[in-house]
Amino acid sequence: MTRFRRTLPPALRVIVALTLACLNGWAAAMDLVPLRVSEHVWYVRGDSGVASAANQGFNSNAGFVVTADSVVVVDALGTPALGEALLTAIRRISTLPVRRVVLTHFHADHFYGLPAFKAVGAEVWAHRAGRAYFASGEAEARLAQRRRDLFPWVDEHTTLIQADRWLDGPVRFSDGGLHFRIDILGPAHSPEDLTLTVEEDGVVFCGDILFAGRIPFVGNADSRRWLAAIDAVAALHPRILVTGHGPHSSDAAADLSLTGDYLRFLREKMGRAVADMVPFDEAYAQTDWGRFRALPAFDAANRINAYGTYLTLERESLGQ
Ligand SMILES: [Zn+2]
Repeated sequence: MTRFRRTLPPALRVIVALTLACLNGWAAAMDLVPLRVSEHVWYVRGDSGVASAANQGFNSNAGFVVTADSVVVVDALGTPALGEALLTAIRRISTLPVRRVVLTHFHADHFYGLPAFKAVGAEVWAHRAGRAYFASGEAEARLAQRRRDLFPWVDEHTTLIQADRWLDGPVRFSDGGLHFRIDILGPAHSPEDLTLTVEEDGVVFCGDILFAGRIPFVGNADSRRWLAAIDAVAALHPRILVTGHGPHSSDAAADLSLTGDYLRFLREKMGRAVADMVPFDEAYAQTDWGRFRALPAFDAANRINAYGTYLTLERESLGQ
C-alpha cells in the first residue's frame, strides 16, 4: 500500500492519507458496549461471520472479570483499535488495574488487540503450545493476510505480541476475592486452547471450543480431540458459557451439541469418502449440507472445513 501511495500524484496522495486517517479515527472511536452475564463478568460480542474490512475485524468476543482488586481480561479482539475500544469500554465499568490478559488461543481475531493492554502494564498468559505458532512462520503469514484484508485496521505498523507467561498446565489463582481456574484443552480448535473458569459466578470462557449459532472454523484442526474438548467443557458444568464467537450460552448442553454435531457430521461424511477412496470434490458435491447451510459463516467456512477434515481423516486412516 505504501508503494502504491508513492505512485499517486501529490494531491491524490493527500486525499488518500486523509481518508485513511479518518478511517483509523473511526476505528479507534468504535464504541463497544459490554454485556453483563453475571455479578462479576462482562463480554463484548463481535459480528457473526468472518473478519472483514466492513466489520473492522470485529467478529470475535472478548470478556473481562471485575474482582475487588483488579480486572482480568480474556482475549483482546482482532485489531489494535479494537483492543483500545475494549479497554475504553472496561474503563467505563471499572478503573481498577488490568493485571492479566488470559488468551484462549493465538488466532488473529483474538489477540491483535493486545498492545492496548500491554501499554497499561497487563501480563499476558497463554498456553505454551502457542509458541509454535510464532516459531513456524504461521503467525507472520496470517499477519500478511490481515494487512491485505483488514487494511487499514491492520497495517504495516501492527505488531504481534506473545505471552509474558507461558503456562505448562492447569492453573488455579485467586484475585480480589474470586477464584479462577485455567484448564488446558488443546490441541483441539488450536494447539493451545484453554478455558478460564470464574468459580463464584459459574462462568466458563471457552474460546473457540464452541461457536454458538454459527459454523466453526475447523481448517486442519484435530476434530477428534476437539470433540473430546467439547466433552471436557461440558464436564466443567458451566452455568454460563462465554464463547469466542456468537452469543453467550445459558444452556451449555444445547450449544455444545451444535458444534459437536457439525464436527461429527464432517467426520462421518468425509470419513466415509476416505474409506471408499472417493475424491474430495465428488464427496463434497454428494453431501447434503442442508442441516447447516443456513447458519452464519457456512459459505465462508464449510468447504475448507470439509477439505481439512478429509485430509485429517486420510492421515488418521494411515495411522499418522
Ligand atoms: Zn480461533
